[in-house]
Amino acid sequence: MRHWEKYTCVTFVERTDEESFIVFTYRTCGCCSYVGRRGGGPQAISIGKNCDKFGIVAHELGHVVGFWHEHTRPDRDQHVTIIRENIQQGQEYNFLKMEAGEVNSLGETYDFDSIMHYARNTFSRGVFLDTILPRRDDSGVRPTIGQRIRLSQGDIAQARKLYKCPACGETLQDTTGNFSAPGFPNGYPSYSHCVWRISVTPGEKIVLNFTSMDLFKSRLCWYDYVEVRDGYWRKAPLLGRFCGDKVPEPLISTDSRLWIEFRSSSNILGKGFFVVYEAICGGEIHKDAGQIQSPNYPDDYRPSKECIWKVTVSEGFHVGLMFQAFEIERHDSCAYDYLEIRDGPTEDSPLIGHFCGYEKPEDIKSSSNQVWMKFASDGSINKAGFAANFFKEVDECSRPDNGGCEQRCVNTLGSYKCACEPGYELTGDKKGCEAACGGFITNPNGTITSPGWPKEYPTNKNCVWQVVAPAQYRISLQFEVFELEGNEVCKYDYVEVRSGLASNSKLHGKFCGSEKPEVITSSSNNLRLEFKSDNAVSKKGFKVHFFSDKDECSKDNGGCQDECVNTFGSYACQCRNGFMLHENGRDCKEAGCEHKVSSAEGTMASPNWPDKYPSRKECTWNVSATPGHRVKITFSEFEIEQHQECAYDHLEMYDGPNGKSPILGRFCGSKKPDPVVASANKMFLRFYSDASVQRKGFQAKHSTECGGRLKADVRTKELYSHAQSGRLLLGDRG
Ligand SMILES: [Zn+2]
Repeated sequence: MRHWEKYTCVTFVERTDEESFIVFTYRTCGCCSYVGRRGGGPQAISIGKNCDKFGIVAHELGHVVGFWHEHTRPDRDQHVTIIRENIQQGQEYNFLKMEAGEVNSLGETYDFDSIMHYARNTFSRGVFLDTILPRRDDSGVRPTIGQRIRLSQGDIAQARKLYKCPACGETLQDTTGNFSAPGFPNGYPSYSHCVWRISVTPGEKIVLNFTSMDLFKSRLCWYDYVEVRDGYWRKAPLLGRFCGDKVPEPLISTDSRLWIEFRSSSNILGKGFFVVYEAICGGEIHKDAGQIQSPNYPDDYRPSKECIWKVTVSEGFHVGLMFQAFEIERHDSCAYDYLEIRDGPTEDSPLIGHFCGYEKPEDIKSSSNQVWMKFASDGSINKAGFAANFFKEVDECSRPDNGGCEQRCVNTLGSYKCACEPGYELTGDKKGCEAACGGFITNPNGTITSPGWPKEYPTNKNCVWQVVAPAQYRISLQFEVFELEGNEVCKYDYVEVRSGLASNSKLHGKFCGSEKPEVITSSSNNLRLEFKSDNAVSKKGFKVHFFSDKDECSKDNGGCQDECVNTFGSYACQCRNGFMLHENGRDCKEAGCEHKVSSAEGTMASPNWPDKYPSRKECTWNVSATPGHRVKITFSEFEIEQHQECAYDHLEMYDGPNGKSPILGRFCGSKKPDPVVASANKMFLRFYSDASVQRKGFQAKHSTECGGRLKADVRTKELYSHAQSGRLLLGDRG
């Protein structure tokens, strides 16, 4: 902006209450801007990531000032050739030619050097493919296009025409300088009009000294005069209007800008005038808002500078100070270059801070309406310095409406925010409070409900509960009520349960809809429950009970020899197949030998099968089938100690439910018995081994045959067609 101000009469001022203004922002377009004044509110000028460069910003400001791209001029075909096949797809519109009625170049010639001209490969399909090719000039050279270094002479000339800049005068931005009436000291021409604008670093003031003065003298300096105004434009407060030959007293600006206008209208002329100026830093500032920068900012500050500012805002307010940039030579105790800030009007006021280095100081709030600031640099090493905004700080929370906050109001620098009491949190408007959700829970058990319970949960809520139990404990969740928006995908509202506290811990499930989740037990002593609702459709929510239970199995396997099974409030040891729990409840011993067999079919074998049976063992099998079927045992292998009467080791089979039933046979030796069939649905088997001689034993298959003897009864009995079938047969075969 200072670049544009230096070469044209365009002025950029910070917006106060202007209706139309530009806003520097970041849009998806990257670097883009409206051309000219859009009007009716803010207009964006987007400075994207790779365009925060001097030349590109100057180009975008060119659009704001009113320039289209140079190559879209109606007469461009006389100067450049557009190579359409090299243009990136979708970017062709950037090369469209404007109509003569749409753009007016004010008689300026086509300007290859313009900062508004595209480069040869802008929007090209490849870096080396030209999209715009300049025509050769008279000496056969193609002019360079696309510079982004400075405004061209053509840019400057055209902007000065567009804004009707006075032909005489200039913008002065250096720390010191001078200027004079045209023709000085040989006399100025009549009907001259010149404007000089002095603009130094914000926070500096300008001291203006006329060293020579000779203008035609008239009453009230009606004809020839030089006017000095305290600000950036012709309506700024007048510091003085001068004519005659009396050299004015030195003038000092309140801010960093002065406006000096010279007019001559008489034919009786004088020598003119000569002015020198100097920027001085520091001073008293009586304003409610403004900016202070180190001298020459953002360029390096000068060596051996000392600036003292005393800022006073309206009575009854505090001074707020916010830094935008800070870069002062670093030193442990800031002994070389520094910025010192004191809470009050003098250098003896309490110290707020003594700053240097590259870290922006925190926001500062004075206790009264005054602060004292001193910037000092030594003889060497200069940096960019600092830029800070000051303003009168209002305590919005002291207003009768409590800043509009429902519960608490917290004042911050330049602003304020609402806060809520414990157990509450801010609603969407950031002013109201609603029951908080989520939290860190260490109770061993309790209930968690969705926010707003028992009313519908609010939209756009995200709650996280973290339940922590002592080590060795597990946490179980049992939902009592569950009603959320959504179906299987759980895209909108959902509850998510994880073992652990982090959002990437082991997931147990993501739930939504109205189906209650099963009981969930964590795999560690932490559990995370997250609830999320989107911006639409609220439901009743959920109510879930949680219990912490000690997992006795997690330490030393609960003392179990074999398996440890945790149960709520307790645990139990279990043994693998063929073994049973010892009386001590922890150890396992060989399982007993009394078998109850009720399946339709299966296998059975002597103890230890296929290894030899143990000595002194007695095992029984109580086999039962569905009424109406007969139990059948078919041996696949058989080897029991041989004896004539099977007096030693043997297998007995009985036609009924126990050993008192009629015996079907007593078997031993190595001859496999034929299949044995009971007369009804029950059979009892007993295996016996004595103290000596062990063999392999037996393996048999038990099954059923249909039919059989049934006792006729007065009561009806049920009969089944097949053992597995539950279909009722009509009739009775008995
Ligand atoms: Zn552009």
